[in-house]
Amino acid sequence: MIHNLYIHIPFCIKKCLYCDFYSVSYDESLAEYYIDSLCKEINLRKNCCNLLKTIYIGGGTPSVLNIKSLIKLLEYLQNSFNFAHDIEITTEINPGTIDEAKAQTLVILGVNRFSIGVQSFNNEELKFLGRIHNSADALRTIKTLRKYGVNNLSIDLIYGIPGQKIESWEKSLNKAINLSPDHISAYELTLEENTVLYKIMKSSAKRNKSNLSLPDEDNIIDMYNYTIDYLATNHYYQYEISNFAKIGFKCLHNLNYWDRGEYIGLGAGAHSFIDGIRKKNVADINKYIHSLKSDIIPETEIFKITKEEALKEFIFLGLRKTEGIKLDNSFLAIMGNKNKGINFIECSRELIDSGYLEFQGNYLKLTRKGITVSNTIFVKLFEKLGL
Ligand code: SF4
Repeated sequence: MIHNLYIHIPFCIKKCLYCDFYSVSYDESLAEYYIDSLCKEINLRKNCCNLLKTIYIGGGTPSVLNIKSLIKLLEYLQNSFNFAHDIEITTEINPGTIDEAKAQTLVILGVNRFSIGVQSFNNEELKFLGRIHNSADALRTIKTLRKYGVNNLSIDLIYGIPGQKIESWEKSLNKAINLSPDHISAYELTLEENTVLYKIMKSSAKRNKSNLSLPDEDNIIDMYNYTIDYLATNHYYQYEISNFAKIGFKCLHNLNYWDRGEYIGLGAGAHSFIDGIRKKNVADINKYIHSLKSDIIPETEIFKITKEEALKEFIFLGLRKTEGIKLDNSFLAIMGNKNKGINFIECSRELIDSGYLEFQGNYLKLTRKGITVSNTIFVKLFEKLGL
């Protein structure tokens, strides 16, 4: 049985320059049809879960929905599933899309964790990224949520923005700390091919416009190292490559992903992982709504994970966590047999000797030196394992 549910709300006010998530412009009547379809999908899937431990409503921008839709969705969830007494219900919120009434409604409906897309406290950076909000909007959103008793609040920040200096990143982090969120996600900006930002950067590189270049690799590593140290000094402990939490505030929903736990994803473009199979719903709202009118869940991509892929996922996801991979029976099960487990340790040896990986008790984990270049380490490890 599955205990974790993801719900995708693919609407945004405006597309951010760097974003490659599936989302379309918000349209109130289309959103209401979409929520009706989501309720149908919930109904079709409700027997897969007997007790929900986490629900994550992401997007897109869930907070763009009107109050009527939010009530409909959350009440439908409550009526369809049993919730664990300590269930974690997260909603992503974007500043500029939530007012007091919406915040209060969400709290009353049982949402107990809010993840706010702040991204930066520098207005020029926010404008450059194409965000709809400014720093003051972010402060107002946090204040409003706290006013209604939210005591598990996370903020997302982005570093490595074109033209960004380390001083600006330090200021954003400092402002974040002063607001005392319970959790901080700090992501390096990545240039995804299907984004407006990718095209802008490509054409500016051709025209040699240096003010539009990404910070160089050394600067990125400096920003990342500063983040880890500064947040640790302020009692935010790194538990994953990009995630930091005060004690007791790790995101349980995301931990399930990194542990390769099963989950169901509902909505257009949502992914599920059930019984060793990864599936994706069609990333098209109209096709999604149309299919559910006939009570058919439009799963368009279905991949049975091979043993090799499972092993890669296990290593890649396990090492993203700062505690690393636990070398126990489940490790041996995924390796296939004891000899393969020993071979894995042998293949890791060179990376251990050069200070990128280390043992801590029964765990193999990235060192501080390894975590700053984690993607390179994953590739090297896969090469050594012949994956
Ligand atoms: S608000 Fe989030 S999901 Fe929407 S376009 Fe911006 S980054 Fe993408």
